[in-house]
Amino acid sequence: MNPGLQYPMFGSEIQCPHCRQTIPALTLTDTYLCSRHGAFEANPKNGELVHLQSGRNWRRWNNEWYRQHTHPDGIRFEIHEALDKLYTQGYRATRVIIARRYQELMSGYLERSTPWRAGQPEATAARLYGLPVEFSPDTSEDDCWEVINFDLEKEPGVPVRYPYFRLFE
Ligand SMILES: [Zn+2]
Repeated sequence: MNPGLQYPMFGSEIQCPHCRQTIPALTLTDTYLCSRHGAFEANPKNGELVHLQSGRNWRRWNNEWYRQHTHPDGIRFEIHEALDKLYTQGYRATRVIIARRYQELMSGYLERSTPWRAGQPEATAARLYGLPVEFSPDTSEDDCWEVINFDLEKEPGVPVRYPYFRLFE
């Protein structure tokens, strides 16, 4: 790459996080322009891409964009979508692992299946859509957990109950 061209930090072109079409960088700026979704700005300070119109931001891992959430509903919705997708692929989730950077954000939004008891770690008691929730280990800077939002442990089969299907009823 020729540094003299001064492209934004993600290079001369990226995939639009919304529609995935390849969109160009505007040289001498930090901006990428999607014909459908408008301007996205790279922030070299925190490594994020910001959609100027909505204020939504993303981080990138292995060429995939991961939306960074500022409200628990955003994460819950994304996890719900992933559970739904797993089900259509013939799997059931057995556990949800959420990135540790969201622990504080999510703390008031997880279900408590059993009353809290002294000495019982909070993480083992927390559930989301009926599934046990854990948070990712503490991470260093170059770790996918600084970018991705959650991971689902899964096994083949149909869920015995569908606690997370309540939203569809
Ligand atoms: Zn787009």
